[in-house]
Amino acid sequence: MRSPIAAAAVAWFRDHGRDLPWRATRDPYRIWVSEIMLQQTQVATVIPYYARFLERFPDVRTLAEASEDEVFRYWAGLGYYRRARQLHAAANCVVQQHGGQFPKDLEAMLSLPGVGRYTACAILSFAYDLNHGIVEANTQRLYARLLYWKEPLQATKSQNALWEFAEGLVPENGKGAGQINQAVMEIGSQICTPNQPHCDRCPLLPFCPTSAKGHFDRIPVPKPPKKITELREAAVLIEHAGRWLMRRCQVGERWAGLWDFPRFDITDCDSEAAVRKVLTNAVFERFQQHIDVGNSRHSLKHAVTRYRITLQCYDANLKIPTRRTASTNIVSQGGDVQWCDLAHMEDLALSASGKRVLRWLKKRTHSTTD
Ligand code: SF4
Repeated sequence: MRSPIAAAAVAWFRDHGRDLPWRATRDPYRIWVSEIMLQQTQVATVIPYYARFLERFPDVRTLAEASEDEVFRYWAGLGYYRRARQLHAAANCVVQQHGGQFPKDLEAMLSLPGVGRYTACAILSFAYDLNHGIVEANTQRLYARLLYWKEPLQATKSQNALWEFAEGLVPENGKGAGQINQAVMEIGSQICTPNQPHCDRCPLLPFCPTSAKGHFDRIPVPKPPKKITELREAAVLIEHAGRWLMRRCQVGERWAGLWDFPRFDITDCDSEAAVRKVLTNAVFERFQQHIDVGNSRHSLKHAVTRYRITLQCYDANLKIPTRRTASTNIVSQGGDVQWCDLAHMEDLALSASGKRVLRWLKKRTHSTTD
């Protein structure tokens, strides 16, 4: 029998659900791409990327056959590039291990790179109406309020209770599971918002003890604030004959697979002389090249997870540069490197902050040549 909460949610959703591009399809590939893009990224940001991505990679085989670099280029701007790498790897798994068809069972879905329980259950219910509930950021807040759940949501006990609640919303035969899950997600994101939930417009008001008690600030239990760490880093702009040395970030580093200017941590440097020494040594260690480090010409701020980073850009030149040295003799410890002029840099899949440095560098170069 259908849960009364699910019935109320679906009735509301039919009239009030937003018309989003990934809701118009039952194609598991398209649903999967949208779900991966929507992790940690807002709906409005995802919409144009989603359209562009699907135009270039309309099916899982096209995605699997593309190079990782090209996938990164279509992802650039969405951030969290690990998702793009896993998307590409999972496309290869679907093609090689499942003959290009998305699996229909939970275990096989969970074995795909980057597919966790929420994503697997979302695809299986949205595409195939299989009887899986879902728990993600918006629904877990909603469920916690409907359950008047007083424990921190990260605890295993809480997660078990939330998943059990979610599973209880969908009928055993899965009928309408996709729409039920879409409906509760929509209520969680549009109505049961974190600070000021719109209880007056909520179809689940009759089932909600948190609203009756007015305890929105206590349920769900607030997370302890994230500890922010300040870092100072240097991007070394090593120029030779109108080209700059670029390096591909390696697995285990931030932005693995993307290109960036060589960059190093200078948080502990207490003077410009100390920065120069660190950069000179670090460049030699990584590329076996001696450089002269100039002044810091530009600085920008950006954030990555719990780090707030001030990135300072230093001009640098190779000492005694020769054509051979600059074009063929750069070696890097376990990293791809290349010399690149400004026009070709545009074609690299750059980190977001690398793109900002490139924009500034182009502006500077054009203003000095005008
Ligand atoms: S009634 Fe209010 S608190 Fe309860 S689920 Fe609806 S929006 Fe959330």
